[in-house]
Amino acid sequence: MNSTPTDSCADPGQKLLSVEQGRNRILAAVPVIEAAEQLHLRAALNRILCEPVISKVDVPAFANSAMDGYAVRSEDCPDLQSVVLKIAGTSFAGAPFAGDVSAGQCVRIMTGALMPDGADAVLMQEHVRRDAEQIRFEQSIVKRGQNVRYAGEDTRCGDTVLHAGQRLGDAELGLLASVGVAEVRVTRRLRVAFFSTGDELASVGTPLGRGQIYDSNRYTLGAMISRLNLEPVDMGVVGDNREQLEEAFAEAAGADAIITSGGVSVGAADFVTETLERMGSVGFWKVAMKPGKPIAFGRIRNALFFGLPGNPVSVMATFYQLVRPALERLRGIEHPPPPILLPAVCTDRLRKRPGRVEFQRGVLERGNDGRYTVRGVDHQGAGVLSSMAVANCFIVLAAEREDVAAGSEVAVQPFSGLI
Ligand code: AMP
Ligand code: MG
Repeated sequence: MNSTPTDSCADPGQKLLSVEQGRNRILAAVPVIEAAEQLHLRAALNRILCEPVISKVDVPAFANSAMDGYAVRSEDCPDLQSVVLKIAGTSFAGAPFAGDVSAGQCVRIMTGALMPDGADAVLMQEHVRRDAEQIRFEQSIVKRGQNVRYAGEDTRCGDTVLHAGQRLGDAELGLLASVGVAEVRVTRRLRVAFFSTGDELASVGTPLGRGQIYDSNRYTLGAMISRLNLEPVDMGVVGDNREQLEEAFAEAAGADAIITSGGVSVGAADFVTETLERMGSVGFWKVAMKPGKPIAFGRIRNALFFGLPGNPVSVMATFYQLVRPALERLRGIEHPPPPILLPAVCTDRLRKRPGRVEFQRGVLERGNDGRYTVRGVDHQGAGVLSSMAVANCFIVLAAEREDVAAGSEVAVQPFSGLI
């Protein structure tokens, strides 16, 4: 970790960056963590692989039946004729038929059971009449290989089943088990220290004094960090003064990343950026987004530093758009995919001034005609956290866009795609 995000951006009179520029500049300063550990699959959900996994087996390991029915020799079943075959035995999944199938014979077979030697096709049991130890059927089509799953059809020995940098989700864990892999090498779990700044903040569980508000950011931040499977280190509330901030920064610098909220604007009690400047390196980047401007990005010792604004909706918007991709890269996903954007018809008029990209909160619904519609929630203020709970998506309005007329198309970012 030696690249610094500073360059010319420490200038407070800097030009506004677009969200994409901001994201790219942050990403350019973030390395992929090298520390790794070996974990059993049971503990590996949502971790990132740090080396490819190559299968040492074929899946399936042997040819088997895709149906409950009868394993036959296709050459015994000439076209358009009535066929009678003698049942030589049964092949169960896990208890194969011991012999082989000779001319005029078949074997009763269950789904997943080993194909007996000699047989090369499976007839569905619904397509035959069973008569004591014989089956009869009107042959129309028995093709070689019909209803047979061949060895290696899913995965071949030597195939790369998963790549370095892939996240282990539900399917990936199952896939690893299917090739007999019990343990994987994954990147170390990142520790992310976070705290709120502000003299007005009271922690939940304590009474509110005059002029105080409850600290909600630590709970949204803790949740967003945990959902990325990172280890949240909750450092509480830090007052708006240099000494307390310095102490907190020094303590937090042992983590892989630090996220703070509040104190990054130009108010008389905003000390985060100057403290960062003194103790580490800073790129104070004003990103042209609403809610969200300004954010501070930098580094203290080995820890990445993100100073988010104090307004609760700004914290969430900047985390999803700018912090999350950086944490994804740090934890091993070298090229985190950009958030999904879907088109939807906006059912009401939205107010928008040109200049900054807006992440308005919306409710996305599927209409009777199958098309998606979205409406803006009533209170779009950066401090109105209830708007995030009512909404299920961001309506992303490009910087140059002005008021949106009802019936126009807009791009939305579903919250569910962000998780
Ligand atoms: P700041 O960025 O420090 O100027 O704060 C902007 C606004 O967000 C102010 O109204 C703060 O009271 C509010 N705020 C700051 N931190 C928090 C927090 N942790 N929880 C809830 N609101 C906050
Ligand atoms: Mg403040």
